[in-house]
Amino acid sequence: MTLRLTVATHEWHEAQARLQEQVPGLVPVAKGNGYGFGLDALAREANRMRAGVVAVGIAQEVTTVRLAGWRGDVVVLNPWRPFDELAMSLLEDPKVITTVSRAEDVAALARTHPRSRVVLELDTTMHRHGMATAELAGLDIGELHFEGWSIHLPATGSLQEATALAEAAVGRRRGALWVSHLSVADYRMLRTNIGVRTHMRIGTRLWLGAPETLTTTATVLDVHPIRRGGRLGYHQARAPRDGFIVVASGGTAHGIALAAPVPQRNLRQRFNTVADGLMRATGSTLSPFTIAGRKRPFAEPPHMHSSMLFVAGSDPGVAVGDDIPVTCRMTTTRFDEIVWH
Ligand SMILES: *Cc1c(COP(=O)(O)O)cnc(C)c1O
Repeated sequence: MTLRLTVATHEWHEAQARLQEQVPGLVPVAKGNGYGFGLDALAREANRMRAGVVAVGIAQEVTTVRLAGWRGDVVVLNPWRPFDELAMSLLEDPKVITTVSRAEDVAALARTHPRSRVVLELDTTMHRHGMATAELAGLDIGELHFEGWSIHLPATGSLQEATALAEAAVGRRRGALWVSHLSVADYRMLRTNIGVRTHMRIGTRLWLGAPETLTTTATVLDVHPIRRGGRLGYHQARAPRDGFIVVASGGTAHGIALAAPVPQRNLRQRFNTVADGLMRATGSTLSPFTIAGRKRPFAEPPHMHSSMLFVAGSDPGVAVGDDIPVTCRMTTTRFDEIVWH
């Protein structure tokens, strides 16, 4: 009973190698659910790529990549906060680089942990974390081991913004630049123009940039004929037509959601999907599962490990044991099994 990710390993590695060649200073990002592959798999990949440093999201993930065999430097992307005890303990770790994003935190660390390795984060038009360039003038980093400046751009990062921030920061204090979300061409331009060591942190483009190398499938676990009006599922909804209930592996435990993971056009639509909560009727919500070439509706909201789908007509198009394609949003899916071909 499996939701399965099958990787065309050789081609997947080739795509990574191409990106690594185009992006000198590439820092693989291994965080969260490991982009569907798991953090341990990504830690092993980073070893294979001979990356000097790996980026994780939070302090807890440092242990995970180390248990998977990572021995190099680890930069923690979420900025340090004084109330995070684990992040506090990592300040003493000679292989951990801590991101610091507020002037008061810089001051506190300079006082309490003067030899920590730190990257200082700048505010960008994303406005998630970071210090405004105006704040840099008053910044006193004391004895902190300065590893450079961090710039986290919006998904459509612009060279212009990166350059302006980088010049302001490097003008204050010379050090490496750690950027995210620039195009390869823009990154190379920035690197040439700015004249300091640069890194680009990449997760999505590195691990998911060659979707043709990844196949995600579910297994058909049961097929039942049902008459129009027949009741089904926990919620005893009625079948809208004659057809079949197809039960497939993959449910809420795997991150299979009620709304199919297709991009929704606006916030209002997204809000409506959430506000609807439960589907109103069998067959009203498209599932991410494909049967006989078409995405099929859920018969009712997904269960923990399986989903009930509705196939109208006189032929279910599948039999118990068949594998069927399922569209997965990789950053929210937990696969039962990963097959490395
Ligand atoms: C997650 C993250 C990245 C990687 O983002 P992708 O879109 O997955 O490449 C880069 N930089 C920072 C600061 C991040 O938090």
